Amino acid sequence: MAQILDGAALAAAIQHDVAEEVKQLAARGIRPGLAAVLVGHVPASQIYVRNKVQACAELGISSDLLTPPDRITTEEMLALVDQLNRRDDIDGILIQLPLPAHIDSKRLLDAIDPAKDVDGFHPVNSGRLLAGRPALAPCTPAGVLEILKRSHLPIAGQHAVVVGRSDIVGKPVAALLLHADATVTICHSKTRDLPSITRQADILVAAIGRPGLITPEMVKPGATLLDVGINRLTTREAFDRFFQGNAQREAAFAKRGSVIVGDIHPKAFEIAGAYTPVPGGVGLLTIAMLMANTVRAAKMRREP
Ligand code: NDP
Repeated sequence: MAQILDGAALAAAIQHDVAEEVKQLAARGIRPGLAAVLVGHVPASQIYVRNKVQACAELGISSDLLTPPDRITTEEMLALVDQLNRRDDIDGILIQLPLPAHIDSKRLLDAIDPAKDVDGFHPVNSGRLLAGRPALAPCTPAGVLEILKRSHLPIAGQHAVVVGRSDIVGKPVAALLLHADATVTICHSKTRDLPSITRQADILVAAIGRPGLITPEMVKPGATLLDVGINRLTTREAFDRFFQGNAQREAAFAKRGSVIVGDIHPKAFEIAGAYTPVPGGVGLLTIAMLMANTVRAAKMRREP
């Protein structure tokens, strides 16, 4: 029977540790602070930011939610980032993506002080991560490593295959696995004969954005499967392809008209040694890792 890597339990354990660190900092008169910048009215972004601000409150981290008007220009946003870079009470700056199309997101993210870049997207942090220097690593990839470490799953010497090479997930997760002494293969859309590579994986990370692309035939029995993908299924046909006969999912589909599936076909989990479910796996660690990064940034700024 495969071990389920429970994202909620792991996130709670991380948040517990973060709260302890916050207490220790408080004893030294330090209170970590996060600034969250939200522009526009994307409902999912509003929920994410609300959850991040709430997590700060629960852990004793101060937060400042900034909601500039939709018509704000790139130049005005740059000025806002500059102010946040200078504020001593702010340790982490988070700009919720996506931004409205008229704002140059790349310029903005590059303007964040790398020491306050708690999303870990700044090229300085990407470079430091690759070079194996202390860096603020992107939250989802850092969460993937935390799952493996806290579940005491072996990494050193294992063959880790990462499917996906985005800057925010695939590449950083591959770098983190490499630094943890895994032998890492990175695959992408131009990879030839993907199944022959994924079948070699002791640890398989799927960060693709294609529902159930990794099928049971592509998985080595007993492998550890980490599914980063979040894909919403909205049609009956798509639902049946993954969850026909699954009463629990059927009820969820009937209620909401959609269900979430990862990049790994749920049938593949049956032959895994351990796996992260979707939902309830990797996705739940992202906010916990953001909190951990904020505390880390607060410490690193004071003890570089
Ligand atoms: P991107 O679209 O940026 O990258 C997808 C990657 O998958 C690319 O490298 C692409 O290759 C590769 N790919 C696409 N199709 C195939 C294929 N048929 N075979 C092999 N590789 C393929 O996505 P992200 O990295 O941003 O996100 C990936 C998934 O993770 C999404 O479902 C997203 O929603 C989810 N996600 C979840 C988070 C969480 O908190 N759990 C956070 C961030 C993302 P190429 O480079 O050649 O185009």
